[in-house]
Amino acid sequence: MIPYARHDVSEEDIETVVKVLRSDWLTQGPVVERFESAFSDYCGAKYALAVVNASAGLHLACRALGVNKNSLVWVSPNTFVASANCARYCGSEVDFVDIDAQTYNISVDELEKRLCEAKRTGQTPDVLIVTHFAGQPCDLEQIYQLSKEYGFSVIEDAAHAVGAEYRGKKIGGCQHSDICVFSFHPVKIITSGEGGMITTNREDLYQRMADLRVHGVVRDSARMECNSDGPWYYQQQELGYNYRLSDIHAALGLSQMKRVDAFLSRRRELANRYKDQLSNVPIQLPLEQTDSKSSWHLYVVRIQLENIAQTRKEIFETLKSAGIGVNVHYIPVHVQPYYRALGFQPGDFPEAEKYYNEALTLPLFPALTDSKQEFIIDHVREIIK
Ligand SMILES: *Cc1c(COP(=O)(O)O)cnc(C)c1O
Repeated sequence: MIPYARHDVSEEDIETVVKVLRSDWLTQGPVVERFESAFSDYCGAKYALAVVNASAGLHLACRALGVNKNSLVWVSPNTFVASANCARYCGSEVDFVDIDAQTYNISVDELEKRLCEAKRTGQTPDVLIVTHFAGQPCDLEQIYQLSKEYGFSVIEDAAHAVGAEYRGKKIGGCQHSDICVFSFHPVKIITSGEGGMITTNREDLYQRMADLRVHGVVRDSARMECNSDGPWYYQQQELGYNYRLSDIHAALGLSQMKRVDAFLSRRRELANRYKDQLSNVPIQLPLEQTDSKSSWHLYVVRIQLENIAQTRKEIFETLKSAGIGVNVHYIPVHVQPYYRALGFQPGDFPEAEKYYNEALTLPLFPALTDSKQEFIIDHVREIIK
């Protein structure tokens, strides 16, 4: 079976990890620091903080921005559940904003409309979490303008978007947001096994997330609330977590950084090939906006169900039985049973639901060979018609 996504681990990656296993540090140590500084340099952010996974990173981001049981957080429904769960961990209310029919990212028109309504009722959000779906950046400039006008913070869920660019700058530079969060899960652009990275330009947020990453414990005597008892002393100032990344994981992530640009160009090459060779199939191909560069984390096509006799499920199953590991991203978050129990229901965000009914993710990962891709293309042309 050709998977829809797959990691690419080299001998050099393996040697780098083994070296850490022979060193004095296994958990968060010098390699984590090097990974953080390589990552902040790469995306042009002042600060980077490695965490155990992106879900933990999103949780820290919400905590640092003060999300609590009196907050309201808005999220796109076309994302992985983790983008919304982070706000729920803080006890916050969550609401969704429907997506754009072309980019599958949050719709800025819809966002503006909803903000306008929310202002009338005095229920504007405290935080907006936007996902750069499939690696295609959101309309960050417009979102940023709205955040200033309506007074909310912005978290970028950039789990798909390592190396993506918006208006000539890498995602993660936080020019239009407070905090950006990346994932290094094996299906993503680079991997550390499990892992995530948070970037920000704000020193206060960085410090707060760094504290919360280690139980809310402070070791710097200058920042303590009373005198230190001695050199051994530490102080827990608030309720934090153990969200540390290990040096073992960081070594893999840091080693993968060397190949990030090669990964991205191979992904682009494969995406271009799909685009050229699937143009006559009754599917809507993904759009790359002119002011940005996608990282091509996912290659999602929308099946034009009104033009064909088959269902999406039949197409999915036929491709699977041909050995092609297609997938579907995403089931709208608001129709998950957990969110339905909070009062959401099918029909609430029609664009995300229509998109979901038609979506099909084709395999795309750097190690996918030209001949395997040909095989996929041939089958897609033959099966979807
Ligand atoms: C993968 C993913 C996450 C979660 O990442 P983990 O590192 O597995 O916690 C969050 N949001 C989106 C959009 C993702 O795709």
